[in-house]
Amino acid sequence: MTVVGGPEEQDRACAALSKVGDYFARGGFQIQFELTVRFVTQVELNDSSTAHQSVSGYYRANNNEILMLRANAPWTSERKPWHLSWDEEIGLSILEHEVAHAALAYIMGGNYERLPHAWHEALAYAIQISLMKPELRAKVLTKFPAVQAFGSTLEINDVVYAFDPDVFAVAAYKTYVKNGDIEFLKQAIDLKFELSDPTGF
Ligand SMILES: [Zn+2]
Repeated sequence: MTVVGGPEEQDRACAALSKVGDYFARGGFQIQFELTVRFVTQVELNDSSTAHQSVSGYYRANNNEILMLRANAPWTSERKPWHLSWDEEIGLSILEHEVAHAALAYIMGGNYERLPHAWHEALAYAIQISLMKPELRAKVLTKFPAVQAFGSTLEINDVVYAFDPDVFAVAAYKTYVKNGDIEFLKQAIDLKFELSDPTGF
């Protein structure tokens, strides 16, 4: 891994990588990250087809690079993931989300684009929320008390995602937990689900 950033950012990137790596190892996946993590003051989204809703962090599969907003960037005061204020903990959590994308890319290889974009987001969010400390996870979930698991995995699509990414994330997490978390992850990686928009990546 290459980190473009200061010493604290190097530490944060290493922490995120080992946490996500350990999580996937529990599912039997050993990941050799060949990744560049670039800490920047603004995350620019150029490739519109795969544009991430959040501008806090962004994973680019084509060059295996994560762009991550610096903790002291002026932008962070305007970012309110799950209606929570940005702090170091939520920043690290968002970085873990991006590393989860990179882990999925590593595992899936040539199949990466066969899993629709919304599925990649659902899995990255589910892993991100799973990795949160219980206090932070409780804060996120209590902001959205009415959100339930998806009734059908066909609801994991770009329309539902774009409508409200925060709600989508909570529903994805609940769906993931309800369906055996890592077992659900393995099935998604093996493309075992009926996918609603296979060309929507
Ligand atoms: Zn994402």
